[in-house]
Amino acid sequence: MSQRTKIKALLQSQQTEIDVTVKGWVRAFRSNRFIALNDGSTNNNIQVVVDFENTDPALLKRITVGAALSVQGKLIASLGKGQTVEVVANAIEILGDCDPETYPLQLKNRPSLEFLREKAHLRFRTNTFGAIFRVRNSLAFAVHQFFQERGFVYLHTPIITASDAEGAGETFHVTNFDLDNIPKTDTGEIDFKQDFFGRATNLTVSGQLEGELGAMALSDIYTFGPTFRAENSNTTRHLAEFWMIEPEVAFNDLVDNMDLAEDMLKYVIKYALNKNADDIEFLTQRLTEEEKTKPQNERSEMTLLEKLQFCLNNDFERLTYTEAIDILKESPPNKKKKFVYPVEGWGTDLQSEHERYLVEKHFKKPVILTDYPKEIKAFYMRQNDDGKTVRAMDILFPGIGEIVGGSQREERLDKLEQRMNEMGIPTEELWWYLDTRRFGSCPHAGFGLGFERLVLFVTGMGNIRDVIPFPRFPKNAEF
Ligand code: ATP
Ligand code: MN
Repeated sequence: MSQRTKIKALLQSQQTEIDVTVKGWVRAFRSNRFIALNDGSTNNNIQVVVDFENTDPALLKRITVGAALSVQGKLIASLGKGQTVEVVANAIEILGDCDPETYPLQLKNRPSLEFLREKAHLRFRTNTFGAIFRVRNSLAFAVHQFFQERGFVYLHTPIITASDAEGAGETFHVTNFDLDNIPKTDTGEIDFKQDFFGRATNLTVSGQLEGELGAMALSDIYTFGPTFRAENSNTTRHLAEFWMIEPEVAFNDLVDNMDLAEDMLKYVIKYALNKNADDIEFLTQRLTEEEKTKPQNERSEMTLLEKLQFCLNNDFERLTYTEAIDILKESPPNKKKKFVYPVEGWGTDLQSEHERYLVEKHFKKPVILTDYPKEIKAFYMRQNDDGKTVRAMDILFPGIGEIVGGSQREERLDKLEQRMNEMGIPTEELWWYLDTRRFGSCPHAGFGLGFERLVLFVTGMGNIRDVIPFPRFPKNAEF
């Protein structure tokens, strides 16, 4: 009994005329002779050649698309076109049948992404999703490698928290109350004192505040974990459950923060380009085909591969919010009243149409916007001397909009408390956060990268629901 060899390794094998065992799922079976077998190690299939004249017809009938097989045979140099090696089968064992009458993924005509979203339990078996999830895996690994190489500590911040202090979005409650019989106080309010944690709790929207506590001793930390937002935004860029990477670094200012984010994005994209060249090549073709169905003026000028390389080879454009507003005010779409939200003055939040104009039309590269009006940013961002803006930074990517949101943090206790009071954020509840400003406070900065938005960019997919294995969004928690 030889051990199973993965198909990726077989296809790269320098040796032929060796006995091998290969296991996988049938992608195609033609002429009763050629099986295309795939095990998910690569999108490329190994061709298994069946000696059908000497094979039991009952067995042949069970070799159907989707069936799981174990094949023992000889690896030989292939005579046919399209592959360098193939396996001549000695023995085929059906590990799991797959009834062609009822199997949902008959891949003859390519199923739509919408259809596959309803079959998310099986969509891993398609080339597109195989490629996406191998790329996702590489990006996650590269994130850890990037930070580990730089001596960051991976800090596991809590999933259950007692405050939505950041106000980043709507939260999901966490409770073990009997929902048919919720304890009430004398005045008719929900009595959270009787709840599991003795107070109201929710799923975290961000690990930042706890991350800052770690950075105030370990200097360089990062989190990489799930975050949750109950925002009812049915967009192609929002999920209710998504993964966030949040580095926090003591002694960093905003420029250090921008450098770190730009280095990290380039590092992980480069890693995936090297590690998953085949998959990105496949996804590039997929996107090019998809774009052919769009009108000419909506098609991207660059292929996916070109976009990724372009991102690596160019500095991100850095400018202030105020400079961006000036550009937008004078922009042709604004003057021709083409924006749904016209840009009139300083102080309003940028809509994604504005972000995309800056990135895709004006600069044609990733953009980092800094120094936003304090009114549209969180309480913990460091206040500038102008009294109007804060040391915020958002990184905007083509086709995505905001991919990173971050800032230098307000390290001065008096300024921080003053801002919290202005914004109605209870300082008592965040006593532990404020303690870091009381005891050995120092300048520090960090950011949050939405992992799925990064995967969207690198895979060239159009909908965030297609880059997480089992997406959670309004009215959907299947699988
Ligand atoms: P947006 O304006 O796009 O909703 P945000 O300002 O709410 O983003 P932050 O609170 O700054 O985002 O979160 C940090 C990062 O997390 C964002 O830059 C983005 O990459 C990602 N992100 C935020 N909300 C979601 C979501 N619902 N689904 C997936 N990723 C998200
Ligand atoms: Mn949001």
